[in-house]
Amino acid sequence: MNVLVCNVGSTSLKFKLYDMPACTVTAQGAVERVGSDHDAVFSYKNNGTGQGLSAEKQDIPDYQTGIERFLQELTAGENAALAKVEDIERVGFKATLSKGHFGVHEIDDAVLDGMREWLPMAPLHNVAYLKAIEVMRGVLPNARFVGAFETAFHRTIPMERRIFGVPYEWYEKYGVQRLGYHSASHGYIADMLNAEKKEYAAISCHLGGSCSVCAIENGQSVDTSFGMSLESGLIHANRTGDIDCGMIPFLRSQGLSEEEILEGFQKKGGLLGISGVSNDLRYIIDAADSGNERARLAIDVFVHGIVHYIGAFYLDLGRLDDLVFTAGIGEHSARIRRMVCDKLAPLGVRLDEAKNEACHGQAIISAPDSKVCVRVIPTNEELGIARRTYELV
Ligand code: ADP
Repeated sequence: MNVLVCNVGSTSLKFKLYDMPACTVTAQGAVERVGSDHDAVFSYKNNGTGQGLSAEKQDIPDYQTGIERFLQELTAGENAALAKVEDIERVGFKATLSKGHFGVHEIDDAVLDGMREWLPMAPLHNVAYLKAIEVMRGVLPNARFVGAFETAFHRTIPMERRIFGVPYEWYEKYGVQRLGYHSASHGYIADMLNAEKKEYAAISCHLGGSCSVCAIENGQSVDTSFGMSLESGLIHANRTGDIDCGMIPFLRSQGLSEEEILEGFQKKGGLLGISGVSNDLRYIIDAADSGNERARLAIDVFVHGIVHYIGAFYLDLGRLDDLVFTAGIGEHSARIRRMVCDKLAPLGVRLDEAKNEACHGQAIISAPDSKVCVRVIPTNEELGIARRTYELV
């Protein structure tokens, strides 16, 4: 069965076509910088032949054009991997959240209404998904659509770690609670550990543009750093992490408008906000090494947040067998892994410096005498979504 997985960003589209249940990627494509004039970048590869287009600049003003461009290459170009678009039977989306739909769901009008209703919680992400789903449904009227919601993996978090200290009616009436995100990624890490063992206590650190830590017990999420919205938990590339809600009326009293406050939380915060350098940790590290104090501070705040949650989750779990680093920063920054692990020495974590520095791809980077197995596992969110989309309908 051909299952197309769509990973939609606020300015990007990524596609992988899976042959299920074999889990083979038949073809893949991506559009970066959707919407920028003549500056969008389109890539496509037929994995069977290894041929395709690499990073071609194209005019892709919107999602409709980007999706049609990929489907055209997939079915009609000289590197076509399918005879016709109708051969795509299911489409899986890494969707953010929908009121009342927390797991993996076939996308129908109720699911879409739920996504619209909870738009304020994921404004940038849900708008992009709603648009991409609308376009895909128009182009592929006979395919079945599945939303693998980013909240799915965290439904097993117990109530005492889910409920906030707010009026209980807010939970009952509005659904205010810890939802958690990055389910495709933490769920994939759990799948990888489950393949080795059944009983374990692990902490998965997804450190990318968005960042979260997840406590995993025997394959299930039991706590996570994200709260209800995407502006919570660890600091992110340009979004705030946990903040004190009393800051909002205070900032209003200082003359900031609602829009300015939200912009600070959602676009101008996080690593970018503290460093003033970039939302990309690579540039922040370079700046810190050149003596930029705010860049150094941003790195220290980032690491402190990760350690803070690992410490709390260690006590939640009662022990720790595996500590996993994944996503852009987790997979590629030996420096951040070392800074985090150095602070975890009281838990018996010992890194093998040489293995940490040399790590490319999947590896165990702890020393033989470490009480915790420290691993780098490259995430594969699309594979998790392909599996869930195939299993669901
Ligand atoms: P997204 O959440 O957008 O999918 P990724 O998981 O691809 O993001 O992570 C992107 C981030 O990874 C970049 O913002 C960059 O800061 C970081 N990154 C990638 N490589 C490195 C590296 N070698 N050192 C430090 N940070 C890195």
